[in-house]
Amino acid sequence: MPIYEYQCNVCGARQARRRALSDTSPPRCTGCGSGDLVRLVSVFSVVASCRDRTRDVSWIDRDLASRLERKAGGKLSQDLAASLERMKSC
Ligand SMILES: [Zn+2]
Repeated sequence: MPIYEYQCNVCGARQARRRALSDTSPPRCTGCGSGDLVRLVSVFSVVASCRDRTRDVSWIDRDLASRLERKAGGKLSQDLAASLERMKSC
């Protein structure tokens, strides 16, 4: 069961939820109870050395963050944005 990360548009609280793929009901904020949550694109694991990642970095460009946001339909989490910046600087 995947874990999704959400941010509340009312109180700003970030929260992770384990949800079945079939669960399409809108989650509610654990902080304020609002149903106005946006799903964040979260960090993923990359099993590769920095050298391996830099062999072909053409897919890591300054537009990658916005492309990921469009594909996922949400904002990047701060952790993922920081990971992308680290990958660009290898
Ligand atoms: Zn809230």
